Amino acid sequence: MKIATQLLHSIPVDELTGAISVPIYQTSTFVQESPGINKGFEFSRANNPTRKVLENIICSLEEGHAGFGFASGMAAIDAVMKLLKTGDEIMAVEDTYGGIFQMFQHMFERFGIKANFVDTSSIDKVLAAMTPQTKMIWLESPTNPTLRVSDIKSISKIAKQHNVLLVVDNTLCTPLLQQPIPLGADIVIHSATKYLAGHTDVIAGLVVVNNKILADQIRFNQNISGSILSPFEAWLTIRGIETLCLRLEKQCSNAMAIATWLTSHPAVDKVYYPGLATHKNHHIARKQQKQYGGLVSFSLKTDNIKSAIRVVNATKLFKLAESFGGVKSMLDHPATMTHRLIPEDFRKKTGLQDSCIRLSVGIEDAEDLINDLKQALDKLNLPAGKQITVLQ
Ligand SMILES: *Cc1c(COP(=O)(O)O)cnc(C)c1O
Repeated sequence: MKIATQLLHSIPVDELTGAISVPIYQTSTFVQESPGINKGFEFSRANNPTRKVLENIICSLEEGHAGFGFASGMAAIDAVMKLLKTGDEIMAVEDTYGGIFQMFQHMFERFGIKANFVDTSSIDKVLAAMTPQTKMIWLESPTNPTLRVSDIKSISKIAKQHNVLLVVDNTLCTPLLQQPIPLGADIVIHSATKYLAGHTDVIAGLVVVNNKILADQIRFNQNISGSILSPFEAWLTIRGIETLCLRLEKQCSNAMAIATWLTSHPAVDKVYYPGLATHKNHHIARKQQKQYGGLVSFSLKTDNIKSAIRVVNATKLFKLAESFGGVKSMLDHPATMTHRLIPEDFRKKTGLQDSCIRLSVGIEDAEDLINDLKQALDKLNLPAGKQITVLQ
């Protein structure tokens, strides 16, 4: 089965009633026939039928061994980090998601687990950063907002040689655009909040592992830390996944059209989109991704925060909000919003400019979206005196 069919038909019909929509099993516990004799469910923290359907879907889409649902992407990451112990080190992609940066630096450091942030788009830098204590490599590919791509297959070989776990945050791609496990990863994590649920109405996280030993460990962490996904949130995520294929198709084609158009606008400096042949990691993206995703970032010729804020305040269709992956287009100014907690020198080191604007491209008409960006960007080019009041 092709993945577009698989993602609909890995959702089972309810055996008890024939319900075509997965029932929401809103229950904390399950009646047992006799101690230990039950229908496979005992207590919803450990296992819940609605959550289990979602866990099986993501496991099947990622071609893994087992899947797990969490209350958020961060809770999923927390469960994976708890595979490590004091003294272990983690090598993490340098421009990782802001929350992950905070978690590694300000939470797990205190427990003696050190994170080294490395530009993993360079294999040489990955090799050079390996230490005897490195126990896990943490990749995001592409990263955001600058959409740097790391070669998952080559890094998985290095990980195997050094007996190190490879974790890939696949939030930006979803399994439809990239499957890290067949490329050699041990663990895949998702913020299902983004593309998988897809309608900006859920916070959810998922983990998929490639073997039984990891499955047992993650199942233990999920149950004992208890940050599980609720049945209703699991149901919303399942419903989102049913249309993932259609949504992504449109988001990717809209994003490509917008990225191409942005390269010709006089106010725009750099355009970041791995689908553009000019993107510095385009060749890796082309090798490991089916399409290039719905995020596009760009910076301005007037590279300052003030100009970026004028643009993000002027769009009408693109709504100013954190997060991404929904059906409605949104935009974000990373330096003052999603990435504000990342120290400025670190931001600069990873190439994140003050004027960088991140677009989460939705499923609207591409021409309408381009016109919206055009009217916002054209305001920057008005002759002095005619400029609108600068908003702070
Ligand atoms: C949003 C996000 C997370 C965190 O997920 P939440 O669902 O917000 O907890 C982790 N990784 C990436 C790449 C993200 O975009």
